[in-house]
Amino acid sequence: MIEIKNVNKTFGDLQVLKNISLTIEDGEAYGLVGSSGIGKSTLLNCLAGLDSYESGSIIVDGVRLESLGEKQARLFRKNMGMIFQNFSLVSRKNVYQNIALPMECWKVPGSDIKKRVYELAEMVGLEDKLKARPAELSGGQKQRVAIARALTMNPKYILSDESTSSLDPNITASILNLLDKIRKEMGITIVLVTHEMPVVQQFCSKMTIMEAGTAAVSGEVRELFFQKPPALQKLLGMDNGENIPKSGVNITLGTSHDTLLWELGKLMEKPYKMVNSNFFEFQNQKHGNITINIDVQDLPVCENYLQSHRILYRTERSVL
Ligand code: ADP
Ligand code: MG
Repeated sequence: MIEIKNVNKTFGDLQVLKNISLTIEDGEAYGLVGSSGIGKSTLLNCLAGLDSYESGSIIVDGVRLESLGEKQARLFRKNMGMIFQNFSLVSRKNVYQNIALPMECWKVPGSDIKKRVYELAEMVGLEDKLKARPAELSGGQKQRVAIARALTMNPKYILSDESTSSLDPNITASILNLLDKIRKEMGITIVLVTHEMPVVQQFCSKMTIMEAGTAAVSGEVRELFFQKPPALQKLLGMDNGENIPKSGVNITLGTSHDTLLWELGKLMEKPYKMVNSNFFEFQNQKHGNITINIDVQDLPVCENYLQSHRILYRTERSVL
């Protein structure tokens, strides 16, 4: 478990992290999101034990990182496998040698290295590429090498810094599937830094939205994409409602149930106006929310129906 408590960090005059607090449970896929330059990588580096902070505490499995000496910090970093946007592979070494690198640093015996490299290459689907150099690989393959390398020392955590941000959407999906397999099968907690909202929506169960160095909002991804707090609206670049009717009541429904809208239309005995619909795949299930606009006098009958069917919804008056 990772507990980040009131962490502050400055670079010169710039306060990059402002009183950040958040908790990441074991086995979770946790997203750290926010626009560029907001402090995501800095926070991840602090969590990895690669960077210091002026005040506050980062506690990983009961260990306070700020209290570690140099040698203990080095040992601690074995727990943290890192992957990056630019893959950070050594170009003059082949795939085998790149994966083996951390084990060589830790002076693991050669026969164990060989066994582990083969095991991990197979896991990431690169067993036939062990002799290739990074320049001969696609972006997705390079990231698979980086993932195998990050796993060599059996980390408890994988910290991913924009690891899919330079990949095509279908390659992104395959890398996210691989990370999901690693999380589920190996029980590794994954902290994913990204500025790409579809990535966090597909992959993470919880997230923190960072705004100007603060942890603006934290919570369940599903819930937050339903509630759409202002911090998320900004990231999603949502328009400010040019298409929204200027009278009546907007009801946002947190379900993709097909017959629901039909039922509501029948209850009101007149059509509703569609305001917005937003459906997405989340962990192989379809989710969505839909906003419709109805007349004020139809609200009671609609609310009655929604409440009796335990359907998540919120209402908001459209004002002229
Ligand atoms: P993000 O990952 O969200 O894009 P970063 O954590 O990389 O943001 O950077 C946050 C801010 O801190 C930026 O303004 C960046 O220029 C600054 N910054 C990052 N690293 C350093 C550094 N080593 N020295 C000075 N400023 C830095
Ligand atoms: Mg960054």
